[in-house]
Amino acid sequence: MNAEITPGGINITYSDCPGEREFPFETTKPPISDSKGIISYFERIGNDNPKAEHWLKKLGEVLASYLYRTFNIKVPEEACVLTGFPDGYVLFQNVKKYANGTTRNDRYLYGRYRFRSTNEFSPHMFWLVSDKSQPCSCQYCTGSGGGSRKRHASNNFQQKTPKRTKVQSKPKFDSSEQIIQTVYRRGEIVWVDLTKTDDESLQQIAKENIDNISTRYWPGIIYLREKKNISQNISQNKSPGSDTTSNSDDSYNTNKVFYLVKLLMLKQKVYTDRKTISPWLTRTRDIPDDYYLKEINMSLQLYIKAIQKIKIIVDSYTPMNSYKYKESSRRLAEIKDSKERKRLQEMEKFPHYNAILFGTELICVEDIVRLTTITEMSENINMEPKFLKISSIYEHSKKGIQFTGDGFLRGKLLNEKGKRSINDFTWIPLNKDNEEYTVDLADIAGRFYVAYPNIEEIMQSQSFLKLKDRWAILGNECL
Ligand SMILES: [Zn+2]
Repeated sequence: MNAEITPGGINITYSDCPGEREFPFETTKPPISDSKGIISYFERIGNDNPKAEHWLKKLGEVLASYLYRTFNIKVPEEACVLTGFPDGYVLFQNVKKYANGTTRNDRYLYGRYRFRSTNEFSPHMFWLVSDKSQPCSCQYCTGSGGGSRKRHASNNFQQKTPKRTKVQSKPKFDSSEQIIQTVYRRGEIVWVDLTKTDDESLQQIAKENIDNISTRYWPGIIYLREKKNISQNISQNKSPGSDTTSNSDDSYNTNKVFYLVKLLMLKQKVYTDRKTISPWLTRTRDIPDDYYLKEINMSLQLYIKAIQKIKIIVDSYTPMNSYKYKESSRRLAEIKDSKERKRLQEMEKFPHYNAILFGTELICVEDIVRLTTITEMSENINMEPKFLKISSIYEHSKKGIQFTGDGFLRGKLLNEKGKRSINDFTWIPLNKDNEEYTVDLADIAGRFYVAYPNIEEIMQSQSFLKLKDRWAILGNECL
């Protein structure tokens, strides 16, 4: 075992890339903005930085439970933290500053590969600590054969497999499906433009600014959604996951959708149409840790607390509405490839879900989601899907949450004017009708919003969170 338990935590004594390393992206020159006005640079995060401490704590906890499972070693609770990253591993923060004043910070652990989260790194860490009698099961080692940093090398990405029976071949997008795409869903977290509300106290709050922090856009939770039309029909709202079949959107003829949005940390609820609301990823907020120390007014304090809560939510995922999946025996008999047949049968063992809370968003079966794009070089960059129309969500016992579905590239926008639907874009399918893709949770970037087709931000939501804990963080009054 390549780890020692010390009073101060667990020390990993083996590394697969030891020593001082140079990182080409780490430059001493002051960063300059690109043509879009975006400034992007990388900075090292020292182990005493709270952000690094968060990684070390999380990794220490999962390593302690691994040591107990595997070696029957019980680590005392106060030592369930790493004393540091393995030798040669460095935590970096990619800082992006946008022209509109918002910033975004993404953290990566650079070592043998670039790990995007503690969840991604955990299996590789177990392997470092292990006696190496078994190959590493992390997605990079299994996917790339341990070498180049390819496509986040989820080992099954790019691999098309026969489609499962649940999905029949049918038109790629029919009218009932397009409707789902633009709607905010119950339980989702959005930005509310306080200046567009008719509440004077909120408009007052919107004016409060300090340094670069403006409280004009306040985080809120979609609490209720109702469709109003001439006959005053009100859509039924059930749990968030059951939203998939309800069809409502304010672009729909005589219907207009209204949302009741609970503002986080404030007493007020806002009842509004979607013009006041925008998806979380349209403006990301990073508040320096030392803001607590400054003398700031009450609403700004509440604002910062709200943002800090949502940071936890953004990192998390919660599968919703599980069901038991069964492959039809007729279908299984048709499949000649025995390996493929076994794969389909094996899937029956895994819990399937109709939806998943993914960071601030609710992703449902039948949705089109954005996939993470390749930042490292790949020759097949144009042949990898950028969008996935989800046909199933399940939890694999080793690989974690998996999504299957049809892969697409997005072509031209056909209709420049008027209200847009999903059909106004050309979609280029990358798999045949009887095939589908399987991707990891880490390959999902977020929902595709017809009204915000150019969002490229990635929701990095890799930590499992119980539904009840999610509501506890957001304030129990929500459900
Ligand atoms: Zn590995």
